[in-house]
Amino acid sequence: MKILLSGDGQLGQMLGASAIQHGHECLLYSTRSHQVKPLSAQLPLAMTLAQAIAWADVVSWEHEDIPADVMTLAQHKFLMNAAGIQRLTDRRAEKKLFDDCAVPTSPWQSYDNVAELQQLLQQSQHDLVLKAARGGYDGKGQWRFGRGDDAVTLAAVAGQQAGIAEQLIAFDREVSLVGARAKDGSVVCYPLITNVHRNGILSYSIAATGQLPVTLQQQAEHCFQALTNALHYVGVLAIEFFVVGEGDTAQLLVNEIAPRVHNSGHWTMNGASCSQFDLHIRALTGMPLPQLRVQPTLLLNVIGVESIPDALWQHPQSSCHWYNKTAQPGRKVGHVTIQIDDLASAASWVERWAERLQVLA
Ligand code: ATP
Ligand code: MG
Repeated sequence: MKILLSGDGQLGQMLGASAIQHGHECLLYSTRSHQVKPLSAQLPLAMTLAQAIAWADVVSWEHEDIPADVMTLAQHKFLMNAAGIQRLTDRRAEKKLFDDCAVPTSPWQSYDNVAELQQLLQQSQHDLVLKAARGGYDGKGQWRFGRGDDAVTLAAVAGQQAGIAEQLIAFDREVSLVGARAKDGSVVCYPLITNVHRNGILSYSIAATGQLPVTLQQQAEHCFQALTNALHYVGVLAIEFFVVGEGDTAQLLVNEIAPRVHNSGHWTMNGASCSQFDLHIRALTGMPLPQLRVQPTLLLNVIGVESIPDALWQHPQSSCHWYNKTAQPGRKVGHVTIQIDDLASAASWVERWAERLQVLA
């Protein structure tokens, strides 16, 4: 089949590589330069977006912020209601979806301007996280509000744009569920992934070590079914959760969803029988979703550094992925997946490498 992807960043490239492995053809549309490109080369083709869409059997995306031109021209080539997915780039629409699907999430309210936010802050009984409705990632566009903080000063800054105020959750850990839904409604999910953030940016993830209670996996998959059914979703989707409480009483609260492949799922490139990219391509092209075999894996993000040290390129337990981007503090420029035996070995890899691989903003 012929696949056109909106977006030519690392997710688009990794999806494209998977498309080729499955015998398909793939073009990428750069949402920044508005050029159509072949995979893995910065060579624009003499092809308009409309021509690329006419060429394609199916159009998908690396990010749900689908540009207006793609939305308009590719409507008949998407496998689902892409406008409904694009709306999720607004946190108010996203939170409303959680409420409509009755999946538990942190209590929230929306605000439209400085005055509304100021009133909301002054009346709040809780510590809050304020999030701009649109455009945030890696913790950007967020502010914390605690008792004793000055509501007027914070509202003057955060209320410049519409947003949501969420109750601050005292979570025990953060996890994500990555899975896929096929056109026939069948679903497969990887085991829950434990995620550790530094400065709001995903620092590392630990997957498939089998240490999380089965009940949490069941809760997570229930949320996945509810949300993807409501969206009539086809492809890979990730859900980020907060885990509140430990052991058998642990509960999940949905933090946010990513209707696409997700950074925390990169471990599947080396730690699963079918990667999240393969899974998305299978769902797009109508192939059956496979049973997933997984092995304990650590994913270490490479952030803001010039290169990945040779020792990691050479190590038999690690697989390095470099995105060919210019290093800037806080910018994800690659990732490393590492086969681990257990949590203790993950901890020692993190202790040895995280600081060296990550320069945060
Ligand atoms: P991403 O890069 O995953 O898209 P993001 O910038 O869109 O992230 P969130 O995932 O909403 O934003 O928040 C970033 C991090 O901030 C979370 O992973 C979590 O550590 C913390 N955080 C967000 N909301 C809350 C909350 N309500 N209570 C406690 N911590 C929170
Ligand atoms: Mg997040």
